[in-house]
Amino acid sequence: MLKDLEVKESKIGKRGVFAKKGFRQGELILKTVPGTIIHKDEFRCVPYSERWNYYDEDHYYFMSDPEFYINHSCDPNVFLKDFMLRAMKPIKKGEEICYDYSLDGIDKWKMKCNCGSKICRKLIDGRYFKLPKKLQKKYLPYLPAWFRKAFRKELEKLR
Ligand SMILES: [Zn+2]
Repeated sequence: MLKDLEVKESKIGKRGVFAKKGFRQGELILKTVPGTIIHKDEFRCVPYSERWNYYDEDHYYFMSDPEFYINHSCDPNVFLKDFMLRAMKPIKKGEEICYDYSLDGIDKWKMKCNCGSKICRKLIDGRYFKLPKKLQKKYLPYLPAWFRKAFRKELEKLR
């Protein structure tokens, strides 16, 4: 919950979100609160901001604090599924929490990564289906409902 997290200076981004307590694998860390929801056709009209996330395949939502401070890592320790932020692996007190921005991504964008993990992809592509096949398979259980519904056929091929 909110009291278990803090936003402070990070080596990855300017700021990041850190655990103020330990979390077990699978434990619920935070229920995120989607802000304004807009259709992707409208999205082209608003200035680019990293503060938007997927609501479904056609909509984005404005992330609320502290969600919008969560940095990307190629070796994530949390995942966001159906607005529930959960630990992907055990998290120690004081650790920065990060998810993989490409996990439920459908948009084409590139980002240089400095997450520092041993499995860093260096140049991040925003699209799940551009991830290495092995990683797509690893991320299958973490995909949100809208993504599984929208890409059912494509995902079946992965199994
Ligand atoms: Zn990385």
